[in-house]
Amino acid sequence: MDCCKVIVEKSPAQIADSAICGTCRNKARKVARITVEHILRNECQNEIRDTQYYFCAEPNCDVIYFSNETKQYFTKKDVRVRVGLKETQDPITICYCFDHTLVSAREEIARTGRSTVASSITAEIKAGRCACEVKNPSGRCCLGEVNKAVTALLKEQVVPVMERHDSEASKAVSGISSIPECMICEV
Ligand SMILES: [Zn+2]
Repeated sequence: MDCCKVIVEKSPAQIADSAICGTCRNKARKVARITVEHILRNECQNEIRDTQYYFCAEPNCDVIYFSNETKQYFTKKDVRVRVGLKETQDPITICYCFDHTLVSAREEIARTGRSTVASSITAEIKAGRCACEVKNPSGRCCLGEVNKAVTALLKEQVVPVMERHDSEASKAVSGISSIPECMICEV
């Protein structure tokens, strides 16, 4: 019989630790099971347990999803998409629903001095065509990250663009900060 089995009760500290990535020790956010099911490769599907998974967003950490409870750590090799925020080589995806990358956003800004990425995503969201919950590895709307990325790209461009069209550049930068966060698909 199991007379030697030791039942270990979880301490409150251990429970609080469930959101801490065991690899990088950063706090992670909960991710819905449906997201994990869509993003994990076929060969990992059988390993999905009835547990709360977390998404590790730390750029330098290989772990994508984890559960400290089941001691599972799914890494980059276990997922079917390249997770943009963990990549340093192009193409770095910033929007998984409509395939926007850092390269395409930078190219548009270099060409036109502005970015239409966030506004085009907003239009798609309004039309009900986004599917962040199953396409974005974080399961969350990409618009916040897109805005951050585009704002950084516009800042890179501000000096040369200002020299050419002063008002255009400031319009581009001020325009982006007024784009709202997505209120529809935020999980
Ligand atoms: Zn991590």
